[in-house]
Parts: sequence; structure tokens; C-alpha cells
Amino acid sequence: MNRTRFANGRLGTRLAVYFALWFLLAGAATIIVVNMVMRERALSEARDKARIILDHNLAVHTYFTHQLKPHILPVAEQNISEEYFDPVWMSSTYAVREIYDYFRELAPRDYYYKECAINARSPQNEADEFEKAFLRRLNRNSGLEQKTVVRDINGKPYFVLLRKGEQMQKSCLRCHSSPQKAPQDMVDAYGPSRSFGRDQGEVVSAISIRIPLEQAFGQVSRITWIMSGGLAAILVLLYIVVYVLNHRLLFVPLRTMAAKARLIAERKEHLGDEVDIPKGKEMREIALALNCMSKRLREHVDDLEGQVQDRTDVLSKVNAMLHQEMDERQKAAQELQNYASQLEHLARTDELTQAFNRRHFLRELEKEADRAKRYGRPLSLAILDLDYFKDVNDTYGHAAGDAVLQALTAACRSVLRTQDVFARMGGEEFAVLLPETSTDGAGQVAERIRELIQEMDVQADDGQVVQFTASLGVASLDKEDDYEVEPLLQRADRALYAAKNAGRNRVVTL
Ligand code: GH3
Ligand code: MG
Ligand code: MG
Repeated sequence: MNRTRFANGRLGTRLAVYFALWFLLAGAATIIVVNMVMRERALSEARDKARIILDHNLAVHTYFTHQLKPHILPVAEQNISEEYFDPVWMSSTYAVREIYDYFRELAPRDYYYKECAINARSPQNEADEFEKAFLRRLNRNSGLEQKTVVRDINGKPYFVLLRKGEQMQKSCLRCHSSPQKAPQDMVDAYGPSRSFGRDQGEVVSAISIRIPLEQAFGQVSRITWIMSGGLAAILVLLYIVVYVLNHRLLFVPLRTMAAKARLIAERKEHLGDEVDIPKGKEMREIALALNCMSKRLREHVDDLEGQVQDRTDVLSKVNAMLHQEMDERQKAAQELQNYASQLEHLARTDELTQAFNRRHFLRELEKEADRAKRYGRPLSLAILDLDYFKDVNDTYGHAAGDAVLQALTAACRSVLRTQDVFARMGGEEFAVLLPETSTDGAGQVAERIRELIQEMDVQADDGQVVQFTASLGVASLDKEDDYEVEPLLQRADRALYAAKNAGRNRVVTL
């Protein structure tokens, strides 16, 4: 989670962390290497000093063996007894020790030189525990010559060199085997126990040299600290320089371009915007590419919008045309429907009286006869004919006759039910279809119509009042009949004929 957040974090932060880490690693490695080299150099110097001291003291021993003793012994032997012993000119070890003491006075450094032995003749040459351990190892391991080590003694570091010393020779045994064999002066000087009981071939002494390292190591440590401080200061300086350079050359232009790219992506009005061209080849190329992309997008969007506008205009025009065409078609359809209903009306209506015509009446008669038959219901029919209508025309004129026909129609409709059908069958003859009406009911309806007509007054154009009567023939169908239309019509006609013959202005039911 934290790793992901770091990986997706600001580039500047990541660079700073990487930079600091690598710099610290490189700095630490440099400091460690320098420290090691300087330490090694200090040790090398200490080794050289130890070597000089060693060689110098070995040279003193050689001087004693090859010059001093061979010169003095032949002269001295004439004057000294067997028991004579004077370490001043007879013991090179004594001489080295004394010279070392003078040297310490002249150069009061913490140098240490000792020819040490276990149970040494002089207590000053007695080996300490570390030196004793080396001497024991020398006697165990004949191949061992030298050992160097860095030791902390009393809290201070020393370069320590231990080197194999003298090996007991046969000629040396007089002074080192037993006090009885040794010169009396020697036993008097060192006592009867020190450095006696040695064996031939035994390694009896070792040279122990210590070179103080405190000053050299202190200098290494100081230089290490100075280097660390210097490197830290350089790190801080470099960090600041890198941060400022990154900030100016990289991150500020990058953030500016990112903000502009986001604006271009999110808000159309920023399409075509450009960023300032920053310094640096790569950054300049990115900025130029961004500007070019913004410009191309602007052009593309403009082009698209133009195309959309053109298409929208065309579509609007087509749409308007379609609407217009739809209106016109709707209007035409409406007109057609009006014509159709007018035609239908005309096809079933009598022009003069606006009553239904004969054709519509016969169609309705067929339908009602079927229905009455299916449900076993009664159906009646009345045929009406005006009496002596020819005389009306003759007396009052044809127009008055037309007015009578129209007034008669209106009057009859007013007394009939909506489901009854009143029609002009031709001339001054009308018919009434009465569904759900039995013979009695139909006779009553016919009688009411006859009475109504008898009481009608129609005013002619010249102001004269026209009165007239009608004869009606009624016929019905019910369960016993076979609901045939033609016989019903014939029966009604026969009833009408009967009414006429019986003197007119009456109703006859058959
Ligand atoms: P009847 O009592 O026997 O029925 O005698 P009528 O005169 O009524 O019968 P007729 O058949 O002799 O005469 C019918 C007359 O009806 C003839 C004609 O002048 C008249 N008529 C027929 N159609 C119209 C019309 O549309 N308008 C007018 N004004 N008269 C019509
Ligand atoms: Mg008539
Ligand atoms: Mg007639």
C-alpha cells in the first residue's frame, strides 16, 4: 500500500529520496574505504617503526657477538677469574636494556621494547602473560617466527610485534643450566634461580615491541569525521542544487503542461490553448507536441461541429417538410373522411326530406329481421302513403307538396324512438321499421302517426294552410314466422292497399 503510494507519488519526492539514498550509500562506502586505507597506512608506518627498532637492537647484539666480546675477552681473560661476570660488557641483553632506558629518556614516547623470557635473568625482562603465551607457542611450533597484532592496552591501541628470540645453544648452558656451573658473580647479581634450568634447543626469549597507535588512529578518526561532515555538507548543497534545477527545469513546466492538458481534456473552450515553451530539448518537444495536439483537436472539433450543424440544418429542413407533408396528408385524409361520410350520408338519405332512403331502409330491415330471428324477438313494419296527394300538388302547387313531405318527416321523427327507422320509399310513400315491437304496439304507433298527420297544418308559400291525411298498412313478424323480409313487405303493402280501399285516413294491420 505504502509502496504503491510512493511509486505513484510525486516524481520530485521519489527522485529526492533515490538521490539521497544513493548519495548516502556512496558517501558511506567512500568513508569506509578511506578509513580502512588510512588505518592500513597507520599500521604500515607502525610496522616500519617496529622493524627499525628491532633491526637496531639486533644490530647491538651483533656488535656484541662479532666485535665487543671477541676484542675484550682475550685481553680480559688474563686478569679475571672463572667466577667473574660483568653484564655491562658481557651481556648484550643488558646493554640493549640499558640503551633502551637512555632512549626512553631522550624520546619519551610510548614505545615499548623488551627482550622477554619466562623466568628471565633480570626481572625487567620478565615476560607478561601475553608474551609468555607467545613463548610457549614458539616452543610448541618450531615454524613460528613472528606475530603481529593490534592490542588495546590500558584503553589505548598498540601495534604489537612479537618475534622469536634466542634459542639455547650448548655454549650457553654454563650460565643457564645450574647456578653451580655459572660464574659466582652472576649468581650473586641475579640470584640462584633466575634463568637456570634451561635445555639445549629451547627457545628462551622473544622480542616484544609495541608501537602506540592512539595518535595515528585518532587522526584517522578525525579525518573520517571531517570527511563525513564535508560529504554531508556537499550532499545538502547538491540536494538543494538538484532540487532547484529539477523544480525549475522539470517539475514546474511539467505541472504547467499537466494542468493545461487537463483543462483541454475537460473543457471544450480550452481546446486550442497553448503552453509557453520551456527550456531544454526534451521539455520543448513535449510542449510543442502538446500545443500541436491542442490545435489539431480544436480544428477537429470545429470541423465536427460544422458537420453536425450542416446535418442538423438539413435534418431540420427535412423535418419541416415532413411535418408539412403530414399536415397536408392529414388534411387530405380529413377531407376524404368528410367526403366519405357525406357520401355515406347521401347514399342513405333522401335529398328532399332528409329522411333515410329506400335502400338504407331495406338494408336495416334485413339486419333487424336477422337479429329478431336470432333472438326470437318481434319486429314490425308500417308503410305510410299520403291520401290524394296529387290533389295537394294540384291545389297548392308542387312546392307546397314538398313542404308537406318535409314537415311530415320532421313530425314523424319526433314521435319515434331512436332505434326506429323512418324512410322515404319514393314519392309520397314512407315506411317505419319498429324493432322489438309487436303487432299491437306497431298498430298503436301507426295510429298515433295518422292522428298527428291529420292534425298537421302546413303553410304554403302563398299563405294558404294545407291539411292532409295518410293511410298506413302495418305488418309484423314474431316467433311463428320465418322472418322473411319480402313477405313482410308484401303484407304491409296489402294492408296499406286495404286502408286505401276502406276510405283512406286509417290504419290496417295484417
Ligand atoms: P291516393 O290517395 O290513391 O294515394 O291518391 P294520390 O293522388 O295520392 O295518388 P297518385 O299516385 O295518383 O298521385 C301521387 C302524386 O304524388 C303524384 C305526384 O304529383 C305526387 N308526388 C310524387 N312525388 C312528389 C314530390 O316529390 N313532390 C310533390 N310535390 N309531389 C309529389
Ligand atoms: Mg297517395
Ligand atoms: Mg302513392
